Amino acid sequence: MNVEWSPLFTERKIRENLNEKISQQQKILSIHEVIGTKKAIDENLKLSDIDIEYLVKNSMKRITTLWNNDFIQALVSRFHKQWMVFERIERGSVNGVDLYCGPDIAVKIQNHWHLIRIDMQGKKNSSFEELEAMAMVSWIRGKHNFPVLANKYTIRVIAWRNGFWNQQRIVSSKQKLTQSNYLIESDIIQMQKMLSKLGKNNSFNQIPLAKKSSTCRKCALRESCPGGINLSSGIMQQSALELAEFSKG
Ligand code: SF4
Repeated sequence: MNVEWSPLFTERKIRENLNEKISQQQKILSIHEVIGTKKAIDENLKLSDIDIEYLVKNSMKRITTLWNNDFIQALVSRFHKQWMVFERIERGSVNGVDLYCGPDIAVKIQNHWHLIRIDMQGKKNSSFEELEAMAMVSWIRGKHNFPVLANKYTIRVIAWRNGFWNQQRIVSSKQKLTQSNYLIESDIIQMQKMLSKLGKNNSFNQIPLAKKSSTCRKCALRESCPGGINLSSGIMQQSALELAEFSKG
């Protein structure tokens, strides 16, 4: 805390991180080469096209504009007195389920805790975004003496979209919290179903396939997935396998 990185130091850190990520990806790529899925991953990651200087320049722009954001500046100038920073790898627990969805910063403003999520690579807006962001409330309530009541929180998602930092403010409520928990539970049920379909051999033969072939075009699993080359024949192949399995009794 109380340490402000100079632009030169920030740039050096970004460059080091990028180089480290790229060398990790090269290692992963060599594993894919051995298991025969390198081509799909290559097409997906386009590692040979990576321009480090462009990425560093782009990252610097995002970080500098984020630093100048009113909300961050209010923290830097100590306008808000009570705030905490969290690590996203910190575990939370909701109804016995481990969650890794903490906020990046929690700031107390008057009687409310504002939970901040900084999204450096904002996705397109989706109808589930609000409920996904509400998972931060599930994660933090009751932790470190944070309030339990849902209406004591406000969520702010600061996301980089189309060349700008966009801010979304979500007012938390008990009803939204219930819906968000429901969404988490149904995601877990879907994951469990998928795992049970993989079977003992971790076979991809029975995993739920995409609804549209356009989804498969950029999928890294395309080469090993039964629907990757031809989705309709993959679906038919799966139904036949399922029927064969069913008829065994
Ligand atoms: S290739 Fe397979 S795993 Fe990937 S999106 Fe298509 S169906 Fe899903």
